Amino acid sequence: MTLPSFLLAEVAVEASGARVLITQASYLVSSVFFILGLKSLTRADTARQGMQQAALGMLLAIVGTLIDQRIVEYGWILAGLAVGTVIGWPLGTRVPMTAMPQRIAISHMFGALAATLVGIAEYLHHVNLAEPVGRVQMAALGFEVLFGSLTVTGSFMAFGKLQEFLPGRPITYAGQNVVNIGAMAGAVGLWLYLIVDPSAQWAFWAMTALAFVIGISFVLPIGGADMPVVVSLLNSYAGLAASATGFAIGNTVLIIAGALDGASGFILSIIMSKAMNRSFTNVLFGAFGAAPTASTKSAANLTVKSISAEDAAIQLAYAGKVIVVPGYGMAVAQAQHTVRELAELIEKKGGEVKYAIHPVAGRMPGHMNVLLAEANVPYDRLYDMEEINDEFDSADVALVIGANDVVNPAAKTDKSSPIYGMPILNVDHAKSIIVLKRSMNAGFAGIENELFYDEKTNMLFGDAKASISKLVSEVKTL
Ligand code: NDP
Repeated sequence: MTLPSFLLAEVAVEASGARVLITQASYLVSSVFFILGLKSLTRADTARQGMQQAALGMLLAIVGTLIDQRIVEYGWILAGLAVGTVIGWPLGTRVPMTAMPQRIAISHMFGALAATLVGIAEYLHHVNLAEPVGRVQMAALGFEVLFGSLTVTGSFMAFGKLQEFLPGRPITYAGQNVVNIGAMAGAVGLWLYLIVDPSAQWAFWAMTALAFVIGISFVLPIGGADMPVVVSLLNSYAGLAASATGFAIGNTVLIIAGALDGASGFILSIIMSKAMNRSFTNVLFGAFGAAPTASTKSAANLTVKSISAEDAAIQLAYAGKVIVVPGYGMAVAQAQHTVRELAELIEKKGGEVKYAIHPVAGRMPGHMNVLLAEANVPYDRLYDMEEINDEFDSADVALVIGANDVVNPAAKTDKSSPIYGMPILNVDHAKSIIVLKRSMNAGFAGIENELFYDEKTNMLFGDAKASISKLVSEVKTL
């Protein structure tokens, strides 16, 4: 028996209404999960749960989108899923923690590329139908393509600098800030023109091309050591572009997730700029890192004192107060578990151990907190730079584990240094300093560190994990 056609039509309408309802409900629930995830990410002990909540939110948003009735063909979506999995799986599972900033930069590039392509496709769709884009939609579309395109090239430049296939030093030329600000003003002008006349295809393509160039020219003058702020700012641009995509194609979850991403990335950039004592306005216009030339300080005529594990262990075992300063080298050596073991031994001997965490130690925001939390170091022993900096004066030993730039006094004293102005940990105020690293090699900023030649400093050369293991066995014998 076949149903009459008017009944079939009614069933179809009801089914499509139910699908819209399910899609919208899944968007609402996934937005709640995104907000809960962000909230949980603000504390180290709930951060893992935060990632799971955000991932669940994303899964719900994808499922909700897949049942959208406007999808006419699943073939391309499946192909996209397959390609995305082939690229995303190794990115998530194989890339080491130490390469996380470059991984994040390249992920932003892909995210921004997706937003840009959606914007271009939507514009072309209207062009092909000879149906002009509305002004409000054009405002969202133009914003999406403008910020998306500059984030694509900007993120790729940041990736190159962090991966070191592009020079990490600032690449500058006279009048660069004027050129950058002029180019940005030009692109924004084209965007405004498009809002007035959405059919001006030349303006659309000129704005897109200019935005791709701006991404390159904004990141070039910024030194490698300042890349964390750049990556976080590009994260916020990618979020804003995604949010604009949501407005342009009428997708609520994109609007919400993009706005959350954009706002949190923006706030993080401001916090990091403050921590590194960089002007946020300069970061916004790609103008920082430009002023200083390479450091002129050299280690010629300076001598270094090295120390044996036995002697270092004696100092640590009988110290009243030890401040541990972890850096990128601790992450490379994966020494966090042995560090905790050493700290417990010192505490058993009656000493007090605190950890000084510099906001840009390692290669990503919170890098040291994550590693130490993984090794079950109690949270209350971890102190932010401003909380602990005054305590170095009363520390018997500052134990520097694979940190270099974040303890470099040139940031305070050498105006020609690329890290001049960045607040550093006052390790040089401690009564004695023990530095664990493999050689006299420079850190990320590529500059000499006079701390290593300080009278109070003793170098314990070797891989951080191996050196700390030796210290552990020595302290046990005392
Ligand atoms: P640095 O990169 O300045 O120095 C790390 C030191 O660790 C090196 O000098 C290296 O010396 C030593 N090291 C490397 N491997 C080992 C090992 N296996 N055992 C012992 N030592 C080792 O690190 P910091 O943490 O002090 O500073 C971070 C730098 O990275 C800053 O310039 C920051 O701006 C930048 N940055 C930070 C990001 C962030 O978000 N946190 C992101 C991107 C950059 P040697 O080779 O002699 O052993």
